[in-house]
This record gives sequence, structure tokens and C-alpha cells, in this order.
Amino acid sequence: MSDKIIKTDEEWRAKLSSEAYHVCREKGTERPFSGKYNDCKDAGIYHCAGCGNELFSSETKFDSGTGWPSFWEPLTPEKVILEEDRSLFMKRIEVMCAKCDSHLGHVFEDGPAPTQQRFCLNSASLDLESQEKSASNG
Ligand code: FE
Repeated sequence: MSDKIIKTDEEWRAKLSSEAYHVCREKGTERPFSGKYNDCKDAGIYHCAGCGNELFSSETKFDSGTGWPSFWEPLTPEKVILEEDRSLFMKRIEVMCAKCDSHLGHVFEDGPAPTQQRFCLNSASLDLESQEKSASNG
């Protein structure tokens, strides 16, 4: 419980870009096909843009065709908080960072094997830490 990251609104505005602030702290949604990680196939770990928490691996990323980066599962279930979201006249499950409560996106039950889940996230709420290439260019 005590390792939650709590910041004031001013601190979040200072830390995040306006786009990331809108997504993470105002539960905004970036336009489809606009985010930097939609088409990204680099290997690495996706961190929370708000707090750096490790959230998703590129190994579970797949092309959902929706225009948002999509994953079939988080690194571990405890990395994220799932909460019912009844906004926009829909019943959806919101995905948030468990450490700082930043909004990441939503999860749907139409994903691929092995989980059948589709974590549909905003690029603006993520920071990819690319894995170093094993072959060095010297
Ligand atoms: Fe976070």
C-alpha cells in the first residue's frame, strides 16, 4: 500500500507532457493510429509514463488493427488495477498503473491466445525501454 506514488496536480503537470497528462491524469484517449507505439515492434519493456513502473513486455504485444498498442497480458497481474468504467454509455474495464493510478487504457475480452484479453493502451501513457541489440555494431 505504502509504495503508492502520490503527486499533486501541479507535480503531474510539471512531470508529464500535455498529451501524457491528458491521458494519464484525465483519462483521455489518443487518436487511433496517432501514437508512437501503435506500430512499434521493438523488443523491450513498456514502463508507465507517470512513474516508471514496468508494465508490459513487447513479447505480449500484438497488432490488433485498432490503432492503439495492444497487449494480451501485463508483466504480472499486480502491475495494473482494473476498474469498471461506465462512461461514454458503455461498460468497459479501465486499466490503470497500480503504482501511480495513471490511466493506461481499457481491457477487452476479444484478444488472442493464450489469454483472450486485449489490453488496449495509449502510447502517451507508456515509455518503451528498448532492449539492447545482442549483436553489437562494434
Ligand atoms: Fe505509474
